[in-house]
Parts: sequence; structure tokens; C-alpha cells
Amino acid sequence: MSWELDEAHADFAATCRAFVDKQVRPLVDEAETSGVFPQELWTQFGAAGILGLCTPDEFGGSEADSLAVALLSEELARASGGIAISPLVSAYMAGTHLVRYGSDAQKQRWLSAIASGEAVAAIAVTEPGTGSDVAGITSRAKATDDGPTHDNWVLDGRKMFITNAGLADVLVVGARTGEPGRRGITLFAVEAGAPGLSFSTPLKKMGWHSSDTREVVLDGVQVSREDIVGAEGRGFYQIMAGFELERIALAGMGIGHAAECLDLSRRYVAEREAFGAPLSALQTIRHKVAEMEIELEAARLVTYQAAARLDAGHPEAGQSVARAKYLAAVMANRVADDAVQLFGGAGFLDESPVARHYRDVRVLRIGGGTDEIQLEIMTRGMRS
Ligand SMILES: Cc1cc2nc3c(=O)[nH]c(=O)nc-3n(C[C@H](O)[C@H](O)[C@H](O)COP(=O)(O)OP(=O)(O)OC[C@H]3O[C@@H](n4cnc5c(N)ncnc54)[C@H](O)[C@@H]3O)c2cc1C
Repeated sequence: MSWELDEAHADFAATCRAFVDKQVRPLVDEAETSGVFPQELWTQFGAAGILGLCTPDEFGGSEADSLAVALLSEELARASGGIAISPLVSAYMAGTHLVRYGSDAQKQRWLSAIASGEAVAAIAVTEPGTGSDVAGITSRAKATDDGPTHDNWVLDGRKMFITNAGLADVLVVGARTGEPGRRGITLFAVEAGAPGLSFSTPLKKMGWHSSDTREVVLDGVQVSREDIVGAEGRGFYQIMAGFELERIALAGMGIGHAAECLDLSRRYVAEREAFGAPLSALQTIRHKVAEMEIELEAARLVTYQAAARLDAGHPEAGQSVARAKYLAAVMANRVADDAVQLFGGAGFLDESPVARHYRDVRVLRIGGGTDEIQLEIMTRGMRS
């Protein structure tokens, strides 16, 4: 047993950091101001191999593990949450459904393309009327033929807060095909450009400014049996399984944001003078930095443990992942808030990197299952 990253993971993290420093950081300010994801990054991400960590070798992937996804998420979020979330959604929140449950034809059509960055994927589950309660989905897939095989379906409904919606070549859409509740949901792969599929303009958000988030309208979208991802009626369970890697990625992002805030704070308090000395001469300031580091390291260990448990099929992997997602999201919010405080007025300026991290971390307590849902997962066994 080791509490340190092994050489392969440490090398991978270092490679991600070098890539992010060179290719991503120079684009962050412009992407943040324009609110537009830098399109040129997709193929660069693909060439760097960071969109195919969970993709089989035969489709150009590297068959890496969940810890690698956490490390990648960490390094991307150090630079920008808005940029980080877009590839993470495509490869590890939407694309994973095609990797795990896709038919041979779907795999041939999408896996290499997503891993190389030539295609972008989105996952459309949340609706205006239901988010946390995934089993409450009302978007409908209705079979249009009377035969027993249900070869053709038509999709109607609305999806809300869909990341990458306006950039996606394929959307993995959850819709009701059967009875109310968990057992009546099916996933479909819907290609961009399908008649009846349309999007709102990008939603204006508090953070993640450069990620593309939209409402999706399904108005008589025709799909066929070949477009079902996985098994009819199993969509809810596939979505729940997909959430586990998604939450590892989001926890990794929280660690990245907090690590960056800590580094920025350390530099700032060493340079900024008050009362004739650097801020770091003050014990209260040094202790604040130490507390930030303690919180960060605790969340990092819990996240790495959860990733390892997920890959090992540990019986408590679900609780571990929920704990990591909760802890990393709450920790990142506290650490980003502390960083703004240490920067004083400079930290409140829109252009300040700590202000950007502060805005970006808030959604980590909401997306991929809210704090309350993570606590619910952890305490299910206490229900009478
Ligand atoms: C920027 C952004 C990007 C997103 N990207 C995507 C995407 O790509 N695809 C997608 O499908 N979704 C996406 N989402 C949706 C996200 O997953 C949901 O917002 C989230 O799951 C919460 O659902 P909700 O917003 O409907 O809140 P609600 O479910 O309405 O919850 C409101 C409040 O009630 C609490 N609550 C609800 N149920 C319980 C309970 N049982 N016990 C205690 N408290 C409870 C919640 O914790 C929360 O505090 C995104 C959201 C955002 C903000």
C-alpha cells in the first residue's frame, strides 16, 4: 500500500500539466470573456490522448483508470473550469455510455471520433421539471410501429442545462419508454441535425463561462431501435452507473480549483505588503494557508481512494464516490472563498483568477448530483 501516486500516474499528471500550461492557459482569458469554448482545443485534446482514457485500445483509447480521469480533471480545472468541463462531459460523462453500452455500430460510429476530438458528445438527462429526481423524467419516446419489436420511436420533451449541447455531434438522451419510475427510462443516441432537435441560445451562467450550456428541445425527433444505447428500460440504471465516474471527474475538478487557489494565495501573501511587512509575516495569514492545504489534501486522498475503489469494484465504491464528490466540492468552495479573502479587494475584481475560480467552484455542489443527493447516497443504509 502506498499513499503516493505511482510512477505511471505521477507521469500522467505531469504530462497533463505541461499540456494544460502550454495549450490551455493561453486561451483562458479570451474564452472567459467571449463565453465561447476554443474549438481548436478538441483535436489538441484528442492528439494528447486525454479524451480516450476510458476508450478501448481498438478505438484509439488508452484503457486507463478512474484515477487518471481524476488527475486529468484536476489539471484542467487548475487552468479553467469552463474549459475543463467541456472535454470531461464529452469523454467521461456522455461518451462513457457509448463505451459501456453502445452497440457495435454505435461504437464504430462514435468512439474513435470522440477520443480523437473529431466528434463531441453531450448527455441530456436533466429537464426543466426534474433534476435530482432522475426517475421523474417526462421526455417521451413513443414507439411508432405496432409490431412487437418497436423498431421506430419518436422523441418529445425538453432537456435543461445541457453542457456541450450546441457543440455536440451526438447527444445521449434519456427518455421515458415505459412505466413511471426507474424502470421506464431508455437512453438514445441522437445525432446533431436530426429534424425536430433544437437548442436555446447559450444560458448565461454565474461561472463556467466558456462552457456551452443550453436547453434542448425534442419535437418529434425520429429515432430507431439502432439508436438505443444499452437496453430498453435500463436507462435509469445506466445513468446512475455513469454518475460514478462523472462524480470522480467533478471531485478532481474541485481539487484542481483549490490547488490553484492555494498556489495563487501562497504567492500573493508572500508579495503583498501590509503594515510594513509581507502578509505572510502574520501568523493568522500563515495559519489560514495551512488550513487551506489541510482541507485540500484531505479531499485529494478521499478522491483518489474513491477512484481506486470504483475501479476495484469495492462494495462501498458508491458511498466512497459520493463522499469524495461532496467533500471536494465543499472544500473547493471554502478554499476559493479563503483565497478571495486573502487577496482582499484585488480578489473581488472580475478579472482576478481567484474570482474566476470562486465563480466556477459553486456549480460543483450542484452538478452531477447536489450535496444533498451525495449525503442521501451515504445515509441510505440508515433508512428504517
Ligand atoms: C452549469 C450546469 C451544467 C449542467 N450540465 C448538465 C448536463 O450536461 N446534462 C444534464 O443532464 N444535466 C446537467 N446539469 C443539471 C444538473 O445535473 C442538475 O442541475 C442537478 O442534478 C440538480 O438538479 P436541479 O437543478 O433540477 O435541482 P433540484 O433537483 O430541483 O434540487 C433543488 C434543491 O433541492 C434539493 N433536493 C432535491 N431532492 C432532494 C432530496 N431528495 N433530499 C434533499 N434535498 C433535495 C437539491 O439538493 C437542491 O438543493 C447541469 C447543471 C448546471 C448548473
